[in-house]
Amino acid sequence: MTSPVRVRFAPSPTGRLHIGGARTAIYNWAFARSRGGTFILRIDDTDPARSTEENTRVILSAMRWLGLDWDEGPEIGGQAGPYSQAERLDLYREAAMRLVSQERAYPCFCTPAQLAAERDAARARRDPYQGYNRSCRGIDPDEARDRIRAGEPHTLRIKVPLDRGDVVIEDAVHGSVSFAAKELDDFVIMRTDGTPTYNFATVVDDALMGITHVIRGDDHLSNTPRQVIAYEALGATVPVFAHISMILGEDGRKLSKRHGATSVEEYRDAGILPDALMNYLALLGWSLDGETTIIPREVLASEFSLDRISKNPATFDPKKLAWMNAEYIRRMSESRFISEILVPQIERAGLGSCLIGRSESWLGDLARLVQPRTKMPETAAQIARPILIGSKELGYDEKALAKTLERPGSSAILNPVIDVLSAIPESAWTTEAIDAAIDTVPELLDKKRRDVFQVVRVALMGTMVSPPLGEAAQLIGRSGCLERLEQARVRSA
Ligand code: GLU
Repeated sequence: MTSPVRVRFAPSPTGRLHIGGARTAIYNWAFARSRGGTFILRIDDTDPARSTEENTRVILSAMRWLGLDWDEGPEIGGQAGPYSQAERLDLYREAAMRLVSQERAYPCFCTPAQLAAERDAARARRDPYQGYNRSCRGIDPDEARDRIRAGEPHTLRIKVPLDRGDVVIEDAVHGSVSFAAKELDDFVIMRTDGTPTYNFATVVDDALMGITHVIRGDDHLSNTPRQVIAYEALGATVPVFAHISMILGEDGRKLSKRHGATSVEEYRDAGILPDALMNYLALLGWSLDGETTIIPREVLASEFSLDRISKNPATFDPKKLAWMNAEYIRRMSESRFISEILVPQIERAGLGSCLIGRSESWLGDLARLVQPRTKMPETAAQIARPILIGSKELGYDEKALAKTLERPGSSAILNPVIDVLSAIPESAWTTEAIDAAIDTVPELLDKKRRDVFQVVRVALMGTMVSPPLGEAAQLIGRSGCLERLEQARVRSA
């Protein structure tokens, strides 16, 4: 029987949650969910100079916003806590001391200047091994203890077995990856100040937390052989590694600030929905079947698998993300669209008071008009605006005015439109009745349908691009429409 899956996402709170980090989190989450496993969130905050609580808070809130619920981690705890590395320093020290007592690690008293000189000498000799020359490895343990007691600054280094040979990992994404033994030096596990290095803290935690699969960015692939050595020294089981490729900008370079927004919250603030961002990021380097693009989170949570992660770098395409966002908006249920997009966006645009006294069915009609045309949340308010505001507030688009109301003959169009529309009683003010009434005018005037409709459109909505006229007019209401037409007639030519 294979042991239950335990995976972790381990961000360093040195910045916001980036697109790349979010994708790593999504893969870990989806893998845990698809295997009935445990998703752990761990905060890698061993670098006090660069880690901040504010960043941790922002990362947690971005995770929550994306719906990446963790089973163990900050704020909820768990059997393997604490889940912040800053609170685990004793565990790293204990593990390191154990390795020293087992002679699998040793104190190194070399000064930075000595180390630099050695490195230069190895380079000058063109020594194939350019790592630490292991000069402290042979120090007698009793002597080392005395020097430590005397307060001599030292690091702790791991003893790479000299007969270890090459380190080969079977990466779930990259396949077999081999690292030459000569590239492995006795790396530092504890610094002079008693803090652990990344490679050591990560392994101690992953081992103690029972991590079965390490899914992370392939910028960490080069750290992996050292981590394997640390697992072996600790006598812990080496997990399965899955290193996911980088995300590139459209110019083929690693995605960074210069490509625009890179943090999850920037996308949230720009109106990208969490489901859309999740779906889009999941597909940056993974596919369900090579063609499906809309993959709801439940499907991701049941169908995700490591063997469909691509080795090749993925390109971040903001246009595709925008397309996917519009698709998620279009597929929302009407009631969710109303409560999560339409009403909040109308309020955000300062038009909340225009909703007072509106019936539920009116709001439903408005939603049916606005939803299919909404590409980004804020466009919902832009589409609804001319319908919501009072006639006096209606502004006219300059170009539209020049092409319609200011053209000679526009009043000759508006007059019969006013006649046919005012003939519809309030009780019969429906989309069909309005359309049928306006439809009689082109023939009456022997004009093109388009020319008549453009004039009416600008009179009612202020612009030439608007949702279908009958539906908009029905929502504006009879008296509102007649008021607007009258107002337009006054300025028509
Ligand atoms: N804190 C590390 C990072 O953010 C974690 C790397 C890992 O997953 O081992 O890059």
